[in-house]
Amino acid sequence: MNFFLCPLCGQPLHRELHSYLCPKGHCYDIAAAGYAHLLPVGRKHSKSPGDDKGMALARKKFLSNGYYNHLMEGLLGLFQENTGAEPVIFDSGCGEGYYTAGIFHGLTAKGKKPKMAGVDLSKHSLRWAAKRAPEVAFAVASSYHLPVADATVDLLLNCFSPLAIEEFHRVIKPGGKFFYVVPAPQHLWELKAVLYPTPYLNEEKQIPYDGFCYQEIRRVERRIHLPDQETIRNLFQMTPYYWKTPLEGKKKLEQLSTLDVQTAFDIHVFTREN
Ligand SMILES: [Zn+2]
Repeated sequence: MNFFLCPLCGQPLHRELHSYLCPKGHCYDIAAAGYAHLLPVGRKHSKSPGDDKGMALARKKFLSNGYYNHLMEGLLGLFQENTGAEPVIFDSGCGEGYYTAGIFHGLTAKGKKPKMAGVDLSKHSLRWAAKRAPEVAFAVASSYHLPVADATVDLLLNCFSPLAIEEFHRVIKPGGKFFYVVPAPQHLWELKAVLYPTPYLNEEKQIPYDGFCYQEIRRVERRIHLPDQETIRNLFQMTPYYWKTPLEGKKKLEQLSTLDVQTAFDIHVFTREN
């Protein structure tokens, strides 16, 4: 099944062997790596938007080693509880597809037949995503202009990605679910204590979004042991602190050979109202 729409005219795209084609003749190549490019040129903010190659690789290595496996399991459990036999699932800001692929394979193992797609701005990340789950449709696209028809998605995941709430509301079916993963207060506390003279807890908040009602907030947490400098650096590159840490904090982090750090995630589960 394909649920991508033409980003130029909004008509359904038909999947050919190496491209997507719309009825008006707009054509989008599917890269050899397995993802499509559905971001119109005018909406690119830079020549190569999204995570660069180094960041994509750092996250891929870190997640592949299972350090956030508990979040994966938590998400999978919630998806199992909230879905029928053939759910349509969309991952907005899927990155290198760790959670997308994990959910796909987990649900398939339980006898379900998920139909899944994921979008991200980083083609470097999508290369990995398409490798992890060739059965899932991946495309370069913006969360704020999803190439998806109204009210077609049963379950939408947003994991540490831009929150395009009006767009999510548009594509989720009435009664469908929205899973929003945010850092809980203690998330990466020990890392922040190295980087900053006065670290702060993450803010904990419940936000009532128009058109959605709260189902639950599920917390997933675990202390993890980072055994070497490379792993510490890979995690650091995945965080927003990578961009705003003073040089002194970065130098302190570079001197560490191991780090035990708390991870804590809140999965906010919403139901889209009619
Ligand atoms: Zn078109």
